Amino acid sequence: MSYCSNCGAKREFEEKVCSLCGNVFSEEQPIIDKDARIRELEQKLAHLEQNIIKDTPKKVEKISPWIFITPLAFMIIFLGFFFLIILVR
Ligand SMILES: [Zn+2]
Repeated sequence: MSYCSNCGAKREFEEKVCSLCGNVFSEEQPIIDKDARIRELEQKLAHLEQNIIKDTPKKVEKISPWIFITPLAFMIIFLGFFFLIILVR
């Protein structure tokens, strides 16, 4: 919804001439298009920001199991050799 720059009356989007004072709305159209474009870009930015927020924990989740698995594997191998040496003797 925009307003007449001459008399301030509410203007419907399809109206090309003000119903109150007869002012022609030729200059206002690009401003409305710019606003729509800005809103569109803001929505895209918000969507991208949400994707970044979603992606960040996934990377942490991928790394975290190996932080636990790797030392455990070394512990099991070390203890395996330790008990083998004791059993052989
Ligand atoms: Zn008007």
